[in-house]
Amino acid sequence: MELLDGKIVKQKVLEEVKGLAEKENVKLGLAVVQVGDDEASKVYVRQKEKMANDLNFNFIHKKLSADVTQEELLKVIDKLNKNKKIHGILVQMPIPKHLDSKEVQNRIYSYKDVDGLTDLNAGMLIHGKEGLVPCTPQGIVDLLKYYKIELEGKNVTIIGRSDLVGKPLAALMINNNATVTLCHSKTKDLREFTKKADIVVAAVGKAKLIKREDIKKGAVVVDVGINRMEDGKLCGDVDFDDVKSKVSYITPVPGGVGQMTVAELAMNTYKAYLLGKKNNK
Ligand code: NAP
Repeated sequence: MELLDGKIVKQKVLEEVKGLAEKENVKLGLAVVQVGDDEASKVYVRQKEKMANDLNFNFIHKKLSADVTQEELLKVIDKLNKNKKIHGILVQMPIPKHLDSKEVQNRIYSYKDVDGLTDLNAGMLIHGKEGLVPCTPQGIVDLLKYYKIELEGKNVTIIGRSDLVGKPLAALMINNNATVTLCHSKTKDLREFTKKADIVVAAVGKAKLIKREDIKKGAVVVDVGINRMEDGKLCGDVDFDDVKSKVSYITPVPGGVGQMTVAELAMNTYKAYLLGKKNNK
């Protein structure tokens, strides 16, 4: 078994972004809008801020109270859309239930949409056109490619069909010529689909859901899940200790996919800059 080490690949991607920005002589700008005091969101925003500071980005952290209205939130996005020093914008999810998250996401100019969640960018991905792709799925593909894990012709089973992870990952895998099965909570007999997969990706949010008997020998396992256990430790959707002697490669939690997500956010900020430049924005 070999670990798919997100920390190593993250450093490589961050170095690449640094070099590309220097070559373009641009100070990249990223804005993160946070609504309310969700504990997990605080951690994610801190990670993004650290990355932005390490790469010397312009960084705006717009923190709004949990009772902000839809109109107020949209106004904040409109202002950031017009800010020429800001190339990428994201709204940290989840946001409180009284807000319309789809409308909020779609308010971001598509060429600044570094989370790749606007309808336009989702459509571009499906059509295999140049746009901004959600960071976590892009990070998974880049991590697998770094370790020279072939995707073409492989059976890939993804568990989870969220707009942020499962669905865009399915599109990316198809674009890379994999044969994709997308499972979810209504899937009957999940094991039937995970057992035949060369690559299993778990993006569910249920600790240790995937066990040894769910995967075939030599499979590659990508664990996207981040679950906080009672003892405070983080744990994935895969029972790491149970499967480790059966897999060929596996991502650790923490230290796997999560690392890649932050790195791809940096890369998307650079891509957003390029898209803006191309469109004279
Ligand atoms: P989500 O929106 O809650 O989606 C979860 C998906 O899992 C849904 O499609 C759901 O099916 C499916 N599901 C739930 N229970 C299932 C079961 N028993 N069997 C099969 N499928 C089941 O979550 P998400 O945003 O995609 O995130 C998933 C996990 O990844 C979470 O732990 C999250 O914290 C983590 N995450 C990590 C990163 C990272 O950077 N590492 C990034 C994003 C998310 P239905 O559609 O039928 O409800």
